[in-house]
Amino acid sequence: MPKPVIFTIDDDISVLNSVERDLRAHYGQDYRILPIDSGKAALDYLKKLLQRNETVALFLIDQRMPEMSGVEFLEEAIQAYPRAKRVLLTAYADTQAAIDSINEVGLDYYLMKPWHPPEERLYPILDELLEDWRVHVRLPYEGIRVAGTLWSLPSHQVKDFLTRHQIPYQWLDIEKDSNARQLVEGISSEVTKLPVVFFPDGRTLLQPDLTELAEKVGLQTHAALPFYDIVVVGSGPAGLASAVYAGSEGYRCLVIEKAAPGGQAGSSPKIENYLGFPTGISGDDLTRRAVSQAKRFGVEILSAQEAMRAFVKDTYRIIQLSDGTEVSCHALLIATGASFHTLKMPGAGELTGAGIYYGAAYTEAMNYKDQDVFVAGGANSAAQGAIYLSQFARKVRVLIRGPQPTASKYLIDALEQNQKIELMRNTELVEVRGKNTLEQIIVRNTGSNEMQIFNASAMFVFIGVRPQSQLVADLVKRNEKGYIFTGTDLMVDKKPPQDWPLERDPFLLETSVPGIFAAGDVRFGTNHRVASAVGEGAIAFALMKEYLKAL
Ligand SMILES: Cc1cc2nc3c(=O)[nH]c(=O)nc-3n(C[C@H](O)[C@H](O)[C@H](O)COP(=O)(O)OP(=O)(O)OC[C@H]3O[C@@H](n4cnc5c(N)ncnc54)[C@H](O)[C@@H]3O)c2cc1C
Repeated sequence: MPKPVIFTIDDDISVLNSVERDLRAHYGQDYRILPIDSGKAALDYLKKLLQRNETVALFLIDQRMPEMSGVEFLEEAIQAYPRAKRVLLTAYADTQAAIDSINEVGLDYYLMKPWHPPEERLYPILDELLEDWRVHVRLPYEGIRVAGTLWSLPSHQVKDFLTRHQIPYQWLDIEKDSNARQLVEGISSEVTKLPVVFFPDGRTLLQPDLTELAEKVGLQTHAALPFYDIVVVGSGPAGLASAVYAGSEGYRCLVIEKAAPGGQAGSSPKIENYLGFPTGISGDDLTRRAVSQAKRFGVEILSAQEAMRAFVKDTYRIIQLSDGTEVSCHALLIATGASFHTLKMPGAGELTGAGIYYGAAYTEAMNYKDQDVFVAGGANSAAQGAIYLSQFARKVRVLIRGPQPTASKYLIDALEQNQKIELMRNTELVEVRGKNTLEQIIVRNTGSNEMQIFNASAMFVFIGVRPQSQLVADLVKRNEKGYIFTGTDLMVDKKPPQDWPLERDPFLLETSVPGIFAAGDVRFGTNHRVASAVGEGAIAFALMKEYLKAL
């Protein structure tokens, strides 16, 4: 944490040197003494301090300066640092100006020059002011700060990325916080290019793409080797489970993740039905444990890197990544899971990240404190989202298409008992409205056909899931929805598919291409549960081991 600053300005260099010497002697250990000889230069420097999130404890300013008076300087400076103590250095002739400024700029004290001996005429006064400052100040946040608006999709994506990687940050809404706005304006004239990410080392990124952000926060985005025994695409429960076993048995294993580790499970506020956690475990806790476990066994995990396409060359399975590079392996596991359906109605695309969120209750809930929000969907993920949101929102209405939520019983009970949650059964979403941000939604009761309009601050969508199997679309057999067939599901009349090249049948979780396996939510016939994904990931590793042995 940088030391708080004592800022002193005097255009007379000899006076400035003397103030600096006295301040340094008494306060140098606990404060950074910053002497500057012009008010204008000092205002510019204040902007830098703001960007670096440094704090000013005290301004000790000469009143009589050529470019601007001490009072004029303070008028501007206290906009940025309203809690800093303000002291004017005055000559006898400036006494009236100093008295007037007590109200104008909330002056705390005016000191007559010369102030010697400082032990009597300077330190006791400043000691008292600094003590008072210390008691009342809230020291600035030391970590990453993200400044943006609630209605900007890139702002949401950056927040979601940091949240999902469990990297703490402070959110600064430039529409609600004038200091934050000033901070952004200080580094960019394009206030539309949001968010601005401020790092503790003083550097900033403007509307970064996720790979740039990942690199800046120290995540691995490039594979260390050109070849691995096993490559896993997707770091949800299935991918991570497989990687833990692969790493623990000494295989060179790489996991490729386009977003953040944890997959869908990582966005769950509380998983209550996973074996061994009787009071539940949050998705981020489970993810943190699994990632540490995999890394401890030497597994490499890439973040913000999408596997775009996979293909086969001899015994190699090759994966093309979004940055244009390739990695190869002998056994490949597709554990790319599933993602929520997006809303197709007009306007929904533009409002994504600006009031409409897919999953993401975890990232955004706090921003909708005491507001009315909606959840679309009635399965487990929607129920968990609604329960989590109810800790912050004033009211959570859950739109359920059918007569009953399809969530597990323990979740339906929790929904029904929650005073803040209203279950709107037989209700479908018809329209979303809003200019820059979601403002209204229109719903229809499927029984009575009655339409209703609601004001809505946000809607969290958890409807349906579709498998993310595009990267192997031309390579392995899938059903019409995109779920990947494996093992016995590939068999026709007890025979493997026609182009299957081996004597043996496909292994249980092997796809129609030998050496390429699938596990978890992307696989046809899976159970869409954390435990199933973990189990399949573990089994897939055992089968990949068999496959590698036979190469
Ligand atoms: C909010 C929520 C709550 C849930 N709660 C529960 C619960 O309480 N109990 C329970 O048992 N189940 C729960 N589930 C279901 C459970 O989370 C899933 O069944 C499980 O996560 C599936 O794991 P997976 O590894 O197969 O896939 P996923 O978890 O979907 O992970 C797949 C990963 O692959 C990545 N990926 C996809 N394509 C690519 C690509 N081309 N390149 C690189 N990476 C890619 C994705 O970004 C993702 O991180 C919940 C799901 C959600 C959404």
